[in-house]
Amino acid sequence: MRKSVGQASYRAIAQLVARVVRDDEVVGSNPTGPTKKSFIRERFFLSPPIPAIIPHMHFDDSTHFDLIVIGGGASGLMAAGRAGSLGKRVLILEKNAECGKKLSISGGGRCNITNAEFDIQLLLENYGDAAKFLFSPFAQFGVQEAFDFFESRGLPLVIEGRKRAFPSTHSAPDVVRVLLDECAKHHVEIVNRCAVTKIHHANGHIESVETSQGTFTADSFVLATGGLSHPETGSTGDGFPWLKDLGHTVVTPTPSLVPLSVKEQWVRDLQGVTIKDIKISFTVDGVKAFNKKGSILFTHFGISGPTVLHCAQPVSILLQEGDVDAHLDLFPTLDEGSLNTAVLELFDGHKNMLIKNVWGGLLHAGILNRCLMLASISSETPVHSVTREERIRLVKILKKLSFPIDGLLGMDKAIVADGGVPLSEVSMTTMKSKKIDNLYLTGDLFHIVRPSGGYSLQLCWTTGFIAGSEG
Ligand SMILES: Cc1cc2nc3c(=O)[nH]c(=O)nc-3n(C[C@H](O)[C@H](O)[C@H](O)COP(=O)(O)OP(=O)(O)OC[C@H]3O[C@@H](n4cnc5c(N)ncnc54)[C@H](O)[C@@H]3O)c2cc1C
Repeated sequence: MRKSVGQASYRAIAQLVARVVRDDEVVGSNPTGPTKKSFIRERFFLSPPIPAIIPHMHFDDSTHFDLIVIGGGASGLMAAGRAGSLGKRVLILEKNAECGKKLSISGGGRCNITNAEFDIQLLLENYGDAAKFLFSPFAQFGVQEAFDFFESRGLPLVIEGRKRAFPSTHSAPDVVRVLLDECAKHHVEIVNRCAVTKIHHANGHIESVETSQGTFTADSFVLATGGLSHPETGSTGDGFPWLKDLGHTVVTPTPSLVPLSVKEQWVRDLQGVTIKDIKISFTVDGVKAFNKKGSILFTHFGISGPTVLHCAQPVSILLQEGDVDAHLDLFPTLDEGSLNTAVLELFDGHKNMLIKNVWGGLLHAGILNRCLMLASISSETPVHSVTREERIRLVKILKKLSFPIDGLLGMDKAIVADGGVPLSEVSMTTMKSKKIDNLYLTGDLFHIVRPSGGYSLQLCWTTGFIAGSEG
């Protein structure tokens, strides 16, 4: 008999309560404080208490499943729903109280669900060295299929700059809801607060998984425990040591100290120029994020130098959330008013000079030209002809010279974006491990370097769908 969603979880909770009752008897209760029973009940949100035996439910007591999915994140939910839709008896083991925690904060809470690049060849260009492995998976379940999947389940997508696709509701939790509904529709069982602690295997075959709530067996297993970024969401890299134990290579995540790439030509034209004692601040979708003081080096690909390198990791996370801009404050020790006074004094002392010639060593010529251009002042203008409005515009730009950040250098070596199992160790038509005959891998477990813009979640939909079809 097929069980309904949550029955396994009810059973596990019932077992837990039964255990608590026994523990209480042994430990005894503290007459002044809460009993252990009520403490556990509170922690596990059991209200009203569930009896150890739930008489009106008829369980198939077997802990054997067709497929067990370890990890109920983006790719695990997709895999489980797909496998359920094919009539398999599927169980998700998720250590958090709810599934899809990282997904629900993705894209700054709006979830950049995919990238609307429907041409596979052009899409592949974003995946660096992994591209040659990804044609087959994307041909099976690509961007169009991701659009169709969500839109046919009542969640239309909208396309924004850089072809980034978002749910029209701009709500990442809505994406989680669609995936959970799909699992519910196909009777996928979910046990939350259930951490897998050990994988038992022999002769290239997984036999069972040990969890905080007992041991489960299955014909096949999907490992979907994600990577290492934002560990508070449950992605603590648990899968990597298991994968090593199972015979896989695990590539260590790329160091996060990388230069930032900028497409604006004027920035690239300044290559070789270093400016010292400035403040660089970052915004995401126009909202202030963080700043650092130091020096920056302009390069042929964007900006670098120690200050910038140390900004890379937080910038890589911001890039997952929206459009990131850098803003240079060229005179961070002066506020706007004081800078205005200083410029006024400078101009007063050099009334008959051209504006491009009054700065001495204060500003690099290339940067000054850019600032004058943005302030709509010709560099050939005599200082006495500069109007008050022009001067105020210029001062504002000297305090905030902005340009968009395109990504991290090269192939976006963000900590959120790489490290894991090399694709050569998995059959990319099935997502099946080449080391273990009943194991399938998905999502962030793979070593794939990719930029921000929906490319990570597209990998989750693709690999999850295929693993669910094959596992
Ligand atoms: C802040 C942020 C924003 C992002 N925004 C975007 C975006 O807008 N677009 C985009 O394409 N990508 C985005 N990403 C990347 C994207 O979220 C990930 O690529 C994706 O969530 C990975 O999915 P996954 O299924 O591989 O793993 P995860 O979503 O990390 O899920 C893994 C699950 O496994 C569970 N788990 C782990 N260990 C165990 C265990 N031992 N037992 C049981 N369960 C376990 C975890 O609790 C978790 O629920 C973002 C990432 C971050 C950090």
